[in-house]
Amino acid sequence: MNLESTQIASTQTKVLDSSQTKKVGFVSLGCPKALVDSERILTQIRAEGYAVSATYEDADVVVVNTCGFITPAIEESLSAIGEALEQTGKVIVTGCLGERPETIQARHPNVLSVTGAGDVAGVMSALHKEIPPDENPFTQLLPTGVKLTPKHYAYVKIAEGCNHTCSFCIIPKLRGLQVSRDAAEVLYEAYRLVSSGTKELLIISQDSSAYGVDIRHRESEYQGQRIVAHLVDLCTQLGELGAWVRLHYVYPYPHIENIVKLMAQGKILPYLDVPLQHASPKILKAMRRPGAGKQLETILRWREICPEIVLRSTFIVGFPGETEEDFELLLEFIRQARLDRVGCFTYSEVDGADANKLGDHVPENIKLERQAKLMAVQQAISLEKNQAKIGKTLECIIDEYNDDEDDEILGSKLIGRSQGDAPGIDGTVMIAAGALAGQIKIGDLVKVIIEDADEYDLFGEAVSLVDWQPNVIRMPSLA
Ligand code: SF4
Repeated sequence: MNLESTQIASTQTKVLDSSQTKKVGFVSLGCPKALVDSERILTQIRAEGYAVSATYEDADVVVVNTCGFITPAIEESLSAIGEALEQTGKVIVTGCLGERPETIQARHPNVLSVTGAGDVAGVMSALHKEIPPDENPFTQLLPTGVKLTPKHYAYVKIAEGCNHTCSFCIIPKLRGLQVSRDAAEVLYEAYRLVSSGTKELLIISQDSSAYGVDIRHRESEYQGQRIVAHLVDLCTQLGELGAWVRLHYVYPYPHIENIVKLMAQGKILPYLDVPLQHASPKILKAMRRPGAGKQLETILRWREICPEIVLRSTFIVGFPGETEEDFELLLEFIRQARLDRVGCFTYSEVDGADANKLGDHVPENIKLERQAKLMAVQQAISLEKNQAKIGKTLECIIDEYNDDEDDEILGSKLIGRSQGDAPGIDGTVMIAAGALAGQIKIGDLVKVIIEDADEYDLFGEAVSLVDWQPNVIRMPSLA
């Protein structure tokens, strides 16, 4: 787990469809891992013949998938439950905060039921009690999975839970110890997604580098081959599908070098999301961070293997006991590592986290000062790195149109991302379609010549469409 979750903890997704009788409203909060849980629950809801309502007024019951990571996320979850209760009176709560029913029931004693993260069966049984499913067998055979992301990208969760004990985090208490999926299960899901038009796979878990450790890297059969549940083997196979494969939440363990080699070979995207959180050995120890130590050497080595690698990380400033000297060490690391993208959070206590018991808490104003200082140093680096892309031609994926009313042709302006930008957390590429106006669709891959850059975003003009030919049998209706 890392603090990106908090950045997108405010992402609320409400889902629609309103033609059938028994209707379920759905509010999805939290990180991409929670989003995947929402997709599984919604798939089951739809498979059992319920309709999903876009409005509270239409919904017979509302399911709220909560986030319980840090205090603001908990507050947001509690107020979303309150709003749903006020509007409909019938609310089923699930998700990370559901692991702490007492917190929910203290504020909202009238919720119908509370279950923990990923508990599809728990949600369904609460739903059955309130609004029994339709007996029509045809509605129970709906085959398609519900996705809350656009068709062209999808999150693929490779493991649930976490075996680490970072002192500021309660995710292992909320989501339990790590449980990895078999490689074949992940690969078949990825194959299905790519064959139905998904061009970008975002691989997530709490610690993707530890994938398969809990199941002792057990083998499973995928297309007649035995595949080991290990990140290197999994990425090797994923890289064969011909889609963009982007890795999130990876720690700097030695075997990641082999992943970086796959990037250098163009098999997976040259992008790594590595939540480092600090650079002072003393603070890293107090944080009990996995894979800490020799971070700078590791990064330089990765760059030697794959010079174009884009590195994203997050840091916490103001952790208990962080002195000026510790912070200076962190700043020096930021200057030397020259990461491409950095998120910086001020430390805040999480109910139940071990770090709460640590002494020497840093005053709030100092935390904020340090955060501003770190971000100022990083912004100059990000700006330089982005400006170095001016004049280059980058392959971008189109996320949305950016037209205004005066544009004569829909699709004259587009918002996309390069291979170095993950959706929701990184920058975007603002694209003028130029001669291709009207020909580019959402989800297309396009070559873009970069003409300008600021510290977050790139600006450029589309020069050609990429003929995407994945290495899968494509579903005819969607190909
Ligand atoms: S314990 Fe550490 S590695 Fe595990 S989810 Fe929390 S922050 Fe991530």
